[in-house]
Amino acid sequence: MRDRFKRIIKTLSEGIIIFDKKGFVKEINQAALDMLDVSPDEIIGKPHFAGKSTLIDEEGSALSADDIIIPRVLETGETFKNVIRGLKKADGSITWFKASITPMLDSNNGIEEIVNVMIDITELYNLKKKDRKILETAKEGYWEVKLSGEIIKVNRALSSFIGYREEELIGKTVYDIADGDGRKILEHALNQLRFGVSESYAVTLKCKKGFDVYTMISTSPLLDSSGKAVGGFAFITDLSDLRATHRELERQHSTISAINEAIVSYVRSDDIREPIEHILDIALRLTGSEYGAVASFNDADGKGLRILALKGVKWADDVNRGLYERAMQQYSGKGYISCPFMDNLFGTVIQIKKPVISNKAGDPYRKGVPEGHMPLHAFMGVPFMWHERVMGLIALANKKEGYTGLELELVEAMARSISLILYRDEEREASVQKDNILNAIASFSRDLTRTLAELEAYEIFKHYLLSLRKGEARIDAVFLVNIDPSRHFAEEVISYNNSGIADPGKFPGVEKCKAYIFAGTFIIKDLSNDYACPFHRLGAKSGSYCCTAISIGGAIAGVLYMYSKTPRFFTEDIKETIDSFIALLAPVVNNIRLLEMNKKLALIDPLTGLYNRRYLEAFMDKQLAIVDRNNQLLSIIMFDIDNFKTFNDTHGHEAGDIALKSISHAIGRNIRASDVGVRYGGEEFIIALPNTDKMTALDVAERIRTTLETTPISIGLNKRAFITASFGIATYGMDASSLDAMIVKADTALYSAKKAGKNNTCVWQE
Ligand code: GH3
Ligand code: MG
Ligand code: MG
Repeated sequence: MRDRFKRIIKTLSEGIIIFDKKGFVKEINQAALDMLDVSPDEIIGKPHFAGKSTLIDEEGSALSADDIIIPRVLETGETFKNVIRGLKKADGSITWFKASITPMLDSNNGIEEIVNVMIDITELYNLKKKDRKILETAKEGYWEVKLSGEIIKVNRALSSFIGYREEELIGKTVYDIADGDGRKILEHALNQLRFGVSESYAVTLKCKKGFDVYTMISTSPLLDSSGKAVGGFAFITDLSDLRATHRELERQHSTISAINEAIVSYVRSDDIREPIEHILDIALRLTGSEYGAVASFNDADGKGLRILALKGVKWADDVNRGLYERAMQQYSGKGYISCPFMDNLFGTVIQIKKPVISNKAGDPYRKGVPEGHMPLHAFMGVPFMWHERVMGLIALANKKEGYTGLELELVEAMARSISLILYRDEEREASVQKDNILNAIASFSRDLTRTLAELEAYEIFKHYLLSLRKGEARIDAVFLVNIDPSRHFAEEVISYNNSGIADPGKFPGVEKCKAYIFAGTFIIKDLSNDYACPFHRLGAKSGSYCCTAISIGGAIAGVLYMYSKTPRFFTEDIKETIDSFIALLAPVVNNIRLLEMNKKLALIDPLTGLYNRRYLEAFMDKQLAIVDRNNQLLSIIMFDIDNFKTFNDTHGHEAGDIALKSISHAIGRNIRASDVGVRYGGEEFIIALPNTDKMTALDVAERIRTTLETTPISIGLNKRAFITASFGIATYGMDASSLDAMIVKADTALYSAKKAGKNNTCVWQE
């Protein structure tokens, strides 16, 4: 028996050492001798290890007395599993092995001998070290934790973005660096690890200084050799920028709320001064300006300016101070003063009726400031208008970085609120109708500030447009077409038609739409009488019509078409109200878009530039709700590259990566702007096609399939290769009622395509 056992261990590639009950080496096989680089004479009969080379631990330090395991086993009878040790030879090279040490008990439960099994892991270990090197230098944070949450390993990126030194983090638990909600999520995540689940979570971590660090944590279990989870590792992406944008958005939203409050308070109190000062205050704060003014303008009595509000202005010169103070006082008496700066920046704003931004002294219209005036570095002036008439301006000065189009839009929204207040003020006998308009604008802005989604902003916009009334008359059809900056894509984001007229459903195209080309507004008062643009949306023969260009972020971004069955519905009042809605909508949409763009950066696969799985899930969350609401269909195309393993084996992994990149071109060339291409896994892709039926999806899939099949991929100097892929299609609303179910069905169809010989498309069928 013993002999047979000896013969067996001789041939094993695992190293085996058997110690006697005193801890002396009794037997050793060849594999172990090789690993330890000793001859039998040097080790048999000796305690532990006594070679020329040094034993080291995982960190590379020589073993201390405490690290020697055999005496501990003799003392406690413990078993040690998977202890990693290195053997550093005289020439400096290291052999790494993993040892498991078990006591063998005799019939009295005393230790009879100790078996040490060693596996050479040098190759694996060096690979792991390379991985570590990558982790060390990665931009993403990394940690390894025990199931208790105790941190056992971190990389530099993590320690730098949460502000602790690496050694400070080791031994802390993940709970120590999270806030209340974060702790709950981490607890859940650690629990999930026990079940071997890999997942991603959004968690707010607390950095050393107490600030929040907004992160995305992707956790996976760390398994022991028996496959049991003993802890977890995670990649941690710092999404603070995204969070900062969120905050910025919230800040801007609260600004609009404040403007809205100012309007409401004015409607209630009839005091013009307070709301305007309030709005100026917000404008200064929001733009980071040093000082500013709001002035109204009356050209009836010459070039008259009336200062309504001044903030942050300090006057070195008594004359000028006197001038402005007088102006302020005169306001209560409704007097105007002649403005000394009419040929300067103020005057330019009023004359050209357009915003002026000037960030340096040498700009045209700048004549310098009068003596005693505060220095002026950067300037932004925005006129407020009513019915084409300039009613005044809001002027801001000395934003440190200079003014940009971004804040311009917000200030324009503010200017518009001021003009509403002034308009209401000028016609003191304000009709109920006018107050209704102000109230509608106030509640529109309130609702708008509560949305973070562009499509919802449009829903709100539509709701308020449809609530406009002139007696019984109202808007009976509204369409909003968004136009991509490339001008290649137009997407209808509002489609409402209650006119009884069939909608031919066509946007004439940017070359034909006058509202787009002239960036203006066209009103047809009476379609039965007046000349109507041949492209007006419904082609109605009676009623009234209005189309207007919408600019977002400084560029024309869409066109709004409205129809009312009632002639002369779109009067100046209604038009002004609609313009006010648009003025509030534009900055909100712009901010939402910026936010989306930032989010995207965290949601894009770096190799292909396509969206990742995380994005697909978020996108579908929103999209499926829209599909449900509008009774539409949504199809997905899933595809997997054929024989990609062979491709990698033949041409190399790098060529494989180039092939993967080329996929995104093939997808991009064949889908619409509203479709979403996703790298779902290694070489699996999904395209989500909103508002698309199965047959159309099949067309798209076939187009991509043939593009792949016929497009050579350049994989090196004068080296070309081709790939093909197999496609599966499933449709939400027909085949499945959730994203997961739809993916399963598309995957099943894909599998059929593979079975049918690959380079094929199959649609899912019962
Ligand atoms: P089939 O036609 O059945 O799909 O055969 P296949 O060889 O493509 O099989 P499978 O889908 O199982 O193979 C996936 C291969 O894709 C294995 C993996 O090496 C390769 N792969 C996955 N991700 C990447 C990557 O990021 N880069 C490279 N170069 N290859 C990858
Ligand atoms: Mg695959
Ligand atoms: Mg494949």
